[in-house]
Amino acid sequence: MAQDDQFKKLIAHAKEYGYIFQSSEIYDGLSAVYDYGQMGVELKNNIKKYWWDAMVKMHENIVGIDAAIFMHPETWNASGHTSAFNDPLIDNKDSKKRYRADDLIEEHIQKYQNKIDKEVTKGRKKFGDDFDEKQFLETNPNVLRNKAKIDEIQGRLVKALEADDLNEIKQIILDCEIACPISGSKNWTDVRQFNLMFETQLGSVADGASKIYLRPETAQGIFVNYLNVQKTGRMKLPFGIAQIGKAFRNEIVARQFIFRMREFEQMEMQFFVKPGTEKEWFNHWKEVRMKWHKALGLPDEKYRFHEHDKLAHYANAAFDIEFEFPFGFKELEGIHSRTNFDLSQHQEFSGKKLQYFDPETKESFVPYVVETSIGLDRTFLTILSACLQDEEVKKENGESDTRVVFRIPPALAPIKLAVLPLVKKDGLPEKAREIIDELKFDFTCQYDEKDSIGRRYRRQDAIGTPYCITIDHQTLEDNTVTIRDRDTMEQERVQISELAKILDDKVSMKKLLKKIF
Ligand code: ATP
Repeated sequence: MAQDDQFKKLIAHAKEYGYIFQSSEIYDGLSAVYDYGQMGVELKNNIKKYWWDAMVKMHENIVGIDAAIFMHPETWNASGHTSAFNDPLIDNKDSKKRYRADDLIEEHIQKYQNKIDKEVTKGRKKFGDDFDEKQFLETNPNVLRNKAKIDEIQGRLVKALEADDLNEIKQIILDCEIACPISGSKNWTDVRQFNLMFETQLGSVADGASKIYLRPETAQGIFVNYLNVQKTGRMKLPFGIAQIGKAFRNEIVARQFIFRMREFEQMEMQFFVKPGTEKEWFNHWKEVRMKWHKALGLPDEKYRFHEHDKLAHYANAAFDIEFEFPFGFKELEGIHSRTNFDLSQHQEFSGKKLQYFDPETKESFVPYVVETSIGLDRTFLTILSACLQDEEVKKENGESDTRVVFRIPPALAPIKLAVLPLVKKDGLPEKAREIIDELKFDFTCQYDEKDSIGRRYRRQDAIGTPYCITIDHQTLEDNTVTIRDRDTMEQERVQISELAKILDDKVSMKKLLKKIF
């Protein structure tokens, strides 16, 4: 199936099973804003818990906060967002479509990369087992020509972005003869900077309302509380502050479903360290964060590190963890070594000292920061895109059939257990309710008695429920039920009294965390 169709199917599935709805859909929706439905909110809460437990519960020296979305407007002058939180935009005069100028160029570069990949596939076919990819990449004239093109354009783009040279960015688009994908024309406006922050008013106009912003990242709520937490928590360096919360960005091009939203959620952790130790901590967090992702059991090859081509002027190292979404490898999480830039800026703009007194050396200094910043919605999309599968299965009569199965990591699944009476009579529904009443304190359970048992299994497969238990007439005689595994579809007969232990073993968050710590 073409990638586009696959992506559309995934969006349709997310809607059909109560995971994600377009915001204000009855009014035709609001662009790049989404609502999480009854299943979506459970999955989202479980991802948050997995992150929070891994960061806060597993680390004695990391604590959490929940800062307000509104902050003093001076915050954003100090952080640099009012002056520099911009994206370069460009419009096509014929289609009237707006694009991020740097994205247009990146997509153009990708075309040369695709050509290289094609050459490699051809080479592999031609030379079979004798194919030496490294040598091929270093010597094949077509590969070298395309690679030189990539290096040339990328070099110009990085330089232009660093120098904020909007004319040069436009010139690259013209030189590369990039056409609008909608109109096909090369009739472009000039490139302009566009600030991504949403503004609103605080207080009524009569009282002299002041302009404030919806926060574009959660990190600043942590920086301005650095001293509050350090003092009241008696925290010693190195220590971290974690936070999960909403952020808002008026993205120029908001396509790709929940990958790029105008209202989204971030999970960020700022780790405060002694100057000079930041590189070591940066490497530590890079490794721990990658382990966190891989413990989920999605294919390892879908993750990769990407080093930033262009470092912010205050940063001394920055890597992204990228994931292979249906539209290619894209940023999922950023790990940044931010020096003492943020705290120093807030110290200067607020006039309040934001320092750490080291009891051993008796020195005061502004700590350095290593941050890990991950999008909750993008993590949700990794699971949706990697775990939703169509699978061939054999029916009892030998015919083949397909089932849609959402192989969510069991610990994150919205419903852990479906309890299904085989028939709606003979006391089976009552027995099913009895079991739910016992298990509901520890596991989210769903009761379902409608339709044949086969259809009910399929429904739970599509939601992603890892286990179904079926109550039949034998249950009433010997207190046993069958438990069916979503992934293998195998069924096993077990004692009701054993269920809690079996489930706990399979779906607990502890199992995931133990893979990391
Ligand atoms: P991008 O380059 O994709 O715009 P970014 O580099 O601006 O992302 P950061 O400012 O580093 O992103 O934000 C940290 C994380 O927040 C990102 O890795 C991503 O997971 C998430 N994020 C950022 N912008 C959005 C958005 N518009 N919608 C959903 N998640 C987002």
